[in-house]
Amino acid sequence: MAYVINDDCISCGACEGECPVNAIAEGDGKYAIDADACIECGACAGVCPVGAPVQE
Ligand code: SF4
Ligand code: SF4
Repeated sequence: MAYVINDDCISCGACEGECPVNAIAEGDGKYAIDADACIECGACAGVCPVGAPVQE
């Protein structure tokens, strides 16, 4: 399952540059992951200060 960014996201932008496949972009009120591009590496979850990227 691809990672998704939940509502805890504070739009800090830290995850965007960490994604090896550029699947993360700023969205409406929070950042968002392109589920079709995500390779489930977990890098975004590793850098997020609030634990917003989760695997459902
Ligand atoms: Fe990108 Fe990896 Fe996060 Fe998926 S899990 S959005 S590939 S950093
Ligand atoms: Fe949101 Fe976490 Fe990414 Fe920051 S690192 S933009 S809080 S998901």
